[in-house]
Formats: sequence, C-alpha cells, structure tokens
Amino acid sequence: MDTVPQIIAEPVVWQPDRVAKKPKWPVPAAGVAMWRGIRGLCPACGKSKLFHGYLRVVDSCPECEAPLGRIRADDAPPYFTIFIVAHVVVGGMVMLNRATDLSDLTQALIWLPVSAALVLGLMRPVKGATVGLMLSLGLISNDA
Ligand SMILES: [Zn+2]
Repeated sequence: MDTVPQIIAEPVVWQPDRVAKKPKWPVPAAGVAMWRGIRGLCPACGKSKLFHGYLRVVDSCPECEAPLGRIRADDAPPYFTIFIVAHVVVGGMVMLNRATDLSDLTQALIWLPVSAALVLGLMRPVKGATVGLMLSLGLISNDA
C-alpha cells in the first residue's frame, strides 16, 4: 500500500503594514470634520470652501492641500437626504392626516413642495458631512 507523502509547509503569517502613512493635510476627528462639512468648509482645516457650486467639491483645499476632489461620496448623500426627508414628511403627513380632514390633493399640494425644499436644503450639508466623515476615515480615492 502506497502512502501519500505529506508535505507540511510552514504557515505563512500575514504581516500587515502597521506603519500608517501620515497625510500631508490635517485629519480632524469625525465630529469636527463633519461639522465643518455641514457648514460648507474644508473638513480638514476649516479655512476654505468645500464646494465649488451647489454640490461640486473643490479639487483640493487651497489652504491645506487636502485632496477633497478625490473623496467620492457617490450616492451616500442622496441616500441620507432621502432617509431624513422621508421620515420628516411621512411623520408630518400622518400627524396632519390625523389632526385634520384635508383632501389628498391638498395634502399633495402641501407635502410635495415641502419635500422638494427639504431635499434641496439638506443635500449640500449632508454631502459636506459625508465628505468630512470620509476624510476623517481616510476614504480617499487613489485615482485622480
Ligand atoms: Zn483645507
């Protein structure tokens, strides 16, 4: 009877690179970065503007050179905005519906503009907070 040769290799232990590369720009705590982003300021230093236009993030901060344009928030800000607005609007609709006897058309004429105004008003601060959180977590894309 043949015996199967046993090949026992030494286990390879993965060694992570524990020396984190320190970025050239300041990295504040998440709460500080998010508050700066909500106010439309650079989440890293808080000295310059985060946005160029309504929702376009500047390529980099002129003060601290943080690569803000490489922070890809993608669909997170609209998701969070819809989440917030839906809770406010649906809660308001239910309360108004219980308190009054308004028609569906009247309810729609109230809540559609309220929804649009809330979305337009919240999208920018929510995106700023998201970019701030991503900066403090180091979620910066490598591609230019
Ligand atoms: Zn900055």
